[in-house]
Amino acid sequence: MNSYLSTPVEYLKGVGPAKGDLLKKELQIFTFNDLLFHFPYRHIDRSKVYKISEVNGELPFIQLRGKLSNMRTLGSAGAQRLVAELRDGSGMIELVWFQGHKWLKDALKADKTYLVFGKPNEFNGSYSMVHPNMDDPDDVETKKYLHIMPLYTTTEKMKARGVDSKAIMRMINTLLLDPKFFVEEDIPASICVQQKLMNRQDALQLIHFPKDFAALAAAEFRLKFEEFFFIQLRLLRFRMKRTQLINGIRLEQIGDLFNKFYNECLPFDLTNAQKRVIKEIRVDVKRGVQMNRLVQGDVGSGKTVVALMSMLMAIDNGYQACMMAPTEILATQHLQTVSSLLKDLPVTVKLLRGATGIKERRIIHEQLESGELDILIGTHALIESKVVFKNLGMAVVDEQHRFGVEQRSKLWQKNKFPPHMLVMTATPIPRTLAMTLYGDLDTSVIDEMPAGRKPIQTIMRYDSSRLAIFGFLKNEISKGRQVYIVYPLIEESETLTFKNLVEGYESICKEFPEPKYQVSILHGKLKAAEKAFEMSRFVRGETQIMVATTVIEVGVNIPNASIMVIESAQKFGLSQLHQLRGRVGRGADQSYCILMSDVKQSNEAKQRIKTMCETNDGFKIAEVDLKLRGPGELEGTAQSGILDLKIADLANDTEILAQARMAAQMVLDEDPQLLLNVNKPLAQHYALYRKTAKWGRIS
Ligand code: ADP
Ligand code: MG
Repeated sequence: MNSYLSTPVEYLKGVGPAKGDLLKKELQIFTFNDLLFHFPYRHIDRSKVYKISEVNGELPFIQLRGKLSNMRTLGSAGAQRLVAELRDGSGMIELVWFQGHKWLKDALKADKTYLVFGKPNEFNGSYSMVHPNMDDPDDVETKKYLHIMPLYTTTEKMKARGVDSKAIMRMINTLLLDPKFFVEEDIPASICVQQKLMNRQDALQLIHFPKDFAALAAAEFRLKFEEFFFIQLRLLRFRMKRTQLINGIRLEQIGDLFNKFYNECLPFDLTNAQKRVIKEIRVDVKRGVQMNRLVQGDVGSGKTVVALMSMLMAIDNGYQACMMAPTEILATQHLQTVSSLLKDLPVTVKLLRGATGIKERRIIHEQLESGELDILIGTHALIESKVVFKNLGMAVVDEQHRFGVEQRSKLWQKNKFPPHMLVMTATPIPRTLAMTLYGDLDTSVIDEMPAGRKPIQTIMRYDSSRLAIFGFLKNEISKGRQVYIVYPLIEESETLTFKNLVEGYESICKEFPEPKYQVSILHGKLKAAEKAFEMSRFVRGETQIMVATTVIEVGVNIPNASIMVIESAQKFGLSQLHQLRGRVGRGADQSYCILMSDVKQSNEAKQRIKTMCETNDGFKIAEVDLKLRGPGELEGTAQSGILDLKIADLANDTEILAQARMAAQMVLDEDPQLLLNVNKPLAQHYALYRKTAKWGRIS
């Protein structure tokens, strides 16, 4: 960045200390450069001037041109308004201001022609505009904005002190008109040519004051590309360095355990997708570089067995393995699954979690350090510094989106040589997010469900159908099926959540009385042992109904449970609904998901429920979720900082992102260290970023 752009914002003509302070406090605009990068949120077309006679109630914001007359202040003190008339020969419209009218009264001149911009309102058959924008058509500065006008975000505080969208527009105009204004190009010319990128300086001017909408689109493309390009360059560079600098453990043998498991212990045939992913992992771990692989697969696609076979690769070569899960229930269940699958093999597996007692802990620690323990499964407890492996070769992180990226890296530090890392997502994530959040990882996708699964049928019902639903449940239970009934967590109040759940539980118990029916209840307030007890009753089929909060959301696998009832479904997010639904449909029976909803639903809730009823495809659902909520709201992404995008949009700019990633890869293929002269700006950008970025440290 040049010295002009790094000038503190208060030095800009027309800003000064007071407004400068506002800009800093309200919008984090500290320098000219920050101001330049305060992009408009919208542009409006001011090339058209309407006649007053054309005004009707249907029109959005429009522009008029006419003479001002009959300015007067109306109303009593404290509730005064300024009113004026505007005439253009075709008719008259009233202009009204409730605020700032003292100042306006002096600034506006009767009998002068103005360009007036605003939204017409109808009242009793006549039209008015409230707080219209007034411009002098002869003013040189105004003429600039007459085609397409930018609108800028400001805050209430700023508006109250006269720093509104238009004021910001003027500041930026001043900035751009200064003869000292210039912006360096930071993308190599070859890429600019290849991608047909507008040059950087033009783009930064036109994004504010475009000549036409085509120029605006070209400027937007350039700036979005740039934003993605540098993120991808960093991610890919990081990945490259890691593979160059970090010696990975070489897992050369396909050994006895892996083969014996595959040939004798697997209770089913692997799907082709599972086989492909396992092969990809095999190739990775033999190369002598650290594997960092993301496995994406829809709920129920069979990620666990892929993890297990990857861990066997490590054990076959004399290393240990671990598997980290986000909840105790899930860790416990992984332990059960893994132990039972491995029961005929000489592999020791143990569980470490928060509730593990001191004595058991000590034994685990000792066995880990001596190498006696092959597989350790657990929760966050795994990354405590006391947990030391003799030689960890493979670390699996299940349901990654619950873990911060920081935690992922902590696992690597457990060894002299970092273990191979296998990250598994709970639900699919959209391509753009995957490329951004996990852009430093290689990706595998399990895009096929085990054979024989029947698609889950999803329906939405209102409270009025409750009796019919109960009848349906009874019928299914009589066929030997089991049912989940899930209540939402009420964020504001744990007590309220609990009350809802308990009330629900009581009414279910009444409707499904003992001894014919047994009902389990599971929620966050139970102790780990109690949770495990209730789970095990349900797993053994001793209870037919499990009433629970979302603690069962992640990963729980009980194939005989075939019905998922979600209470107040309108309150759940899409990915959560999909996760919950994924608890059923795991056996051979037809499964159902019943979304109980209030009649009152927000538009977004309607869309979520509609999406759920229409598709079982987790990748599609993830895309819709991203569009509805935006990336910042998605679970586990908030802290990442990667998603503070200024202009690019992860929900809609998939193609630009893919292009930017490819371009970044090409640069690195040619010049891995960014030493070439043409890549100097890239190296500088990169160095600057490492100094300031919060997520640079993750690596
Ligand atoms: P997720 O990908 O959601 O973690 P799981 O690994 O829990 O899925 O697998 C879901 C269920 O599917 C488990 O009961 C598992 O035993 C079963 N399963 C996994 N792979 C296959 C397969 N190839 N054929 C049949 N069943 C399978
Ligand atoms: Mg799982």
